[in-house]
Amino acid sequence: MDVALVADGLERERERLVGDRRRLLGALLEHDLAPGRLDDVLGQIDAALTAIDDGTYGRCRQCSAEITTLRLRALPHATTCASCARGAR
Ligand SMILES: [Zn+2]
Repeated sequence: MDVALVADGLERERERLVGDRRRLLGALLEHDLAPGRLDDVLGQIDAALTAIDDGTYGRCRQCSAEITTLRLRALPHATTCASCARGAR
């Protein structure tokens, strides 16, 4: 076994992972997200896109109240009104 070749492969893999980690941390920072929140927000964005498709965008998923324009402008992927969002926390 050519260990120099293995070492080269490992070095390349390590560099790739370090780059991926840097990009991931940069993205989390850019979106002001804790690492565990990324999947939550992606899920909310998917739900908002589904709501746009089925015509229910802007309606709270929990209480059916209209989500305020102010809230939707600040958080376009919001799928709950502010009251329900507070209650869910
Ligand atoms: Zn609500």
